[in-house]
Amino acid sequence: MSKKMNGLAMLGFDTIGWIEKDIPAIGPMDALCKPLAISPCTSDVHTVWERALGNRHNLILGHEACAEVVEVGSLVKDFKPGDRVIIPAITPDWEAVESQAGYSQHSYGMLNGWKFSNVKDGVFADYFHVNQADGNLAHLPKEISVEDAVMLSDMIPTGFHGANLAEVEYGDTVAVVGIGPVGLMAVAGSVLRGAGRVFGVGSRQICQDAAKFYGATDLINYRDGNIVSQILDATGGKPVDKVILAGGELDTFEQAVRMVKPGGIVSNINYLGTGDFIRIPRVEWGLGMGHIRIIGGLMPGGRKNMEFLARLMVHGRLDVSPLLTHRFHNFKDADEALLLMKDKPSDLIKPVVSLY
Ligand code: NDP
Ligand code: ZN
Repeated sequence: MSKKMNGLAMLGFDTIGWIEKDIPAIGPMDALCKPLAISPCTSDVHTVWERALGNRHNLILGHEACAEVVEVGSLVKDFKPGDRVIIPAITPDWEAVESQAGYSQHSYGMLNGWKFSNVKDGVFADYFHVNQADGNLAHLPKEISVEDAVMLSDMIPTGFHGANLAEVEYGDTVAVVGIGPVGLMAVAGSVLRGAGRVFGVGSRQICQDAAKFYGATDLINYRDGNIVSQILDATGGKPVDKVILAGGELDTFEQAVRMVKPGGIVSNINYLGTGDFIRIPRVEWGLGMGHIRIIGGLMPGGRKNMEFLARLMVHGRLDVSPLLTHRFHNFKDADEALLLMKDKPSDLIKPVVSLY
């Protein structure tokens, strides 16, 4: 095998391109994988075009993939070359104290479970390295296509994490602000947890149609005016139980606090790529005493989460096909797919590149 590979990298701020790098070496607990399908994420857009992580010069992008195992380390127990696997975007260090405390996303430091396209090369390459293969890979069930499986890397676990952080209960009224692929999965997760009424906030028709498909009962277009008054008008002035933030800018926090009930939860899964401070309205926050919780989280990675979420697809409880609006079949189209994700044309929800 040649020791070199190609990958789609951030060359500098606002610039992407293909570069050649060494194929990564693996340790005894790790795996080397080659992608079967990949998808660009809005987070890659934050990284390259919003400069959210600083200049990651020549860092290979991408953290959403389904893959085949090429090589495993000597201590790997459950995976072997040739296995088809689901790759979580977040691949924690499972021995870390933070992981043992339930926050594997932050193993050895804030957001450090996020390794692909952040602190090491990502998955938009001929090959990529997976740390702690037994803890971070999951076998791909034969019922799930490689394209659908890519949605298990990030979109499903992130959206569902939003619903989990919001602690959605039977009958809850939930406002999901942002109905791109992440928000759509937050709608789906909220519905599966038993939400009674779900507002989906977004402007593009294709996303509104998909939100309906996933169970949104009410659709709000933020371009039609203040979303707080639109939602409160629809509820007869009654605040919502939960808000999930999956799009928009920093002012969505202020809006969320203005529309949520005392004791409600504002759950943020949006990646805040720009700005410095978040404003919380003092009076609507109950003068600091309203028991309104504001929480934000990186999706949980690892094997168990992938296996459990995959069951929803295997048994027909979750269909991701409405998300996949643009399909490419040549690895070299990854850059075109990423540019689509940046430009968000009206007919786009999520592009996927499958390599067969
Ligand atoms: P998209 O850009 O596809 O979707 C964003 C949504 O927000 C769209 O529905 C858009 O509406 C809507 N929106 C835009 N502006 C406003 C506004 N002012 N008020 C209300 N809604 C608005 O993003 P994704 O779904 O791909 O990702 C969402 C976020 O999640 C990103 O920031 C991404 O980086 C982050 N993310 C976080 C992860 C985590 O672990 N927490 C993991 C993965 C992603 P429209 O386009 O219709 O006008
Ligand atoms: Zn992502």
